[in-house]
Amino acid sequence: MNELLKKSATEQSKALKNKEISAVELTNAAFARIDELDEKLGAFNSLTKEIALNTAKKVDEKIAKGEELPLLAGIPLALKDNMNLKGSKTTASSKILENFVSPFNATITEKLLGNLVPIVGKANLDEFAMGSSNENSAFKKVHNPWDLKKVPGGSSGGSAASVAACEATLALGSDTGGSIRLPASFCGIVGMKPTYGRVSRYGLIAFASSLDQIGPFARTVEDAANLLEVISGHDPKDSTSLNLPVEHYAANLNNDIKGMKVGVIKELMTEGLSEDVQKAVERAIEDYKKLGAEIVEISLPNLKHSIGIYYILATAECSSNLARFDGVKYGYRTPDAKNLMEMYTKTRAEGFGPEVKRRIMLGTYALSSGYYDAYYKKAQQMRALVTQDFVEAFKKADILISPTCPNTAFELGAKASDPLAMYLTDIATISANLAGIPGLSVPAGFDKDGMPIGLQILAPQLQESRLFNAAHKFERANDYYLKLANI
Ligand code: GLN
Repeated sequence: MNELLKKSATEQSKALKNKEISAVELTNAAFARIDELDEKLGAFNSLTKEIALNTAKKVDEKIAKGEELPLLAGIPLALKDNMNLKGSKTTASSKILENFVSPFNATITEKLLGNLVPIVGKANLDEFAMGSSNENSAFKKVHNPWDLKKVPGGSSGGSAASVAACEATLALGSDTGGSIRLPASFCGIVGMKPTYGRVSRYGLIAFASSLDQIGPFARTVEDAANLLEVISGHDPKDSTSLNLPVEHYAANLNNDIKGMKVGVIKELMTEGLSEDVQKAVERAIEDYKKLGAEIVEISLPNLKHSIGIYYILATAECSSNLARFDGVKYGYRTPDAKNLMEMYTKTRAEGFGPEVKRRIMLGTYALSSGYYDAYYKKAQQMRALVTQDFVEAFKKADILISPTCPNTAFELGAKASDPLAMYLTDIATISANLAGIPGLSVPAGFDKDGMPIGLQILAPQLQESRLFNAAHKFERANDYYLKLANI
């Protein structure tokens, strides 16, 4: 592997500017790494060589002319395969979209192309982003680069694995209940979910629209901060996107955090926590003390309801969002139907996988008349209480910390036949989506088998700068982030 692939985007940008390597060479090095590795890893559904190399050529032209480069120009990036990139397949890892070629770009894709970021390929995911292990892809499983027998986490498993294995330097994922933070923690990298509305969802295949947010993966907090800056901003095509200026998030990374109040979420430090994960969080608490932060204990009394609330709301929203896949407009259509109704039902029965069907059925039930008040309405009311818990918590603390997941990556197949056990892996992450607040996972050590552990940090709405600052200080107080998967 080209040694430069192991470096951060900041270092790669410097190498490009100093002409140690050209953008075309760097992009080709990423493709060589993918060729060497991805058979084993399964991180990519498809590669977009022509698009990536065209972009890289433009970067080299600018360098040759001595022009200023936009942020992250020339840095190889993997795009989760539920985001549209014109002229490429966008499958959401579902048979129903297996041959769908995007006729348009998502807003984030336009922004990446505008900044001359070479998009090397479409990263594997759980079908329609529903899952926590990436085992729900209709095409192939993703393997964890730290141990190929283990899952990379989901649903953005391909995005996380590609960055952890240095096939790409950056990646984008989507996070509805933890799908960026969980795989980041299982793969030992940084993964960040922004405030709801910070990043446009236009061109992201919708799962649960009131919870979905696109966010960055990187091997350093600084790279993640820069990638968020590139993709953020108001978009008239997404009515939920916020009309607020984009900050230069990396500007405050080194601010002193003396006196910052770091709240430890009590409910996430008890039940079901693996010993190694508990120790890692305790070490993180000590690190924050050394950095001059003040530690406070925080209770989120309604956190225990978050999984229940999420599986009503997310399934309700997905049952309505996925109604569009009916064989009429685009995507798969069953070849043998006798009438229209049979065409609908057969198309959906053949096109969707078991987890997606389970969600559609649960959500349709929760929304049906007679049950709506008991389930959907109640869940909405409970969502408000979870949000209120955070409002109270942030009166006492500037940021909150917890494990990203109570355990490290598990073996492929270990939870595949037990959906409830799988749903429980998101206990620490889901409430941030319910409340719309930003959160990230940063490497915080390793378990006794050498598998990475993630520390989750949460901040109030729109306090991404504070979040990155607190994460960067923790990252640089240790050297976990420098250790790469040996693959
Ligand atoms: N694991 C959760 C689910 O299966 C979250 C997925 C996500 O954030 N996209 O729904």
